[in-house]
Amino acid sequence: MLETLNVAGPRAYPPRVTPFTRAFWDALRDGQFRTTRCDVCHAYTFPPKPFCPHCWSQQVSWTDLSGRGTLYSATTIHAAPAAFRADAPYRVGIVDLDEGPRIAVSLWGDAPLALDEAVEIIALRHDDGPLFAARAVHLPR
Ligand SMILES: [Zn+2]
Repeated sequence: MLETLNVAGPRAYPPRVTPFTRAFWDALRDGQFRTTRCDVCHAYTFPPKPFCPHCWSQQVSWTDLSGRGTLYSATTIHAAPAAFRADAPYRVGIVDLDEGPRIAVSLWGDAPLALDEAVEIIALRHDDGPLFAARAVHLPR
């Protein structure tokens, strides 16, 4: 289970939820981080997809992710798109999940983060639905 934080207000740019991705967002709302994994070549894919981009199989299954990874890259956004302008400056990063996928993710909070540092995914419970972000594992809970 992911650590879940309540965040006041709606999401700045709510994700488009499809009949396929609803399983991801419903799980995230309940503090679970999931994605799809290929039944043929066993590769994980993130974001979840109804096919495998590695071998093109359409035999995929939902699977839980640990929510643990390492920070591969990070930057601070000062010139933000209109939807996120009120949040600027804010940080985003690239995280290598322990299961393999390399994902783009918001970085939570202002604590310093070093490249290759261990990070964890947290669930953010906004008034209108969930989002996720990454933060350093060593932060106090
Ligand atoms: Zn595959």
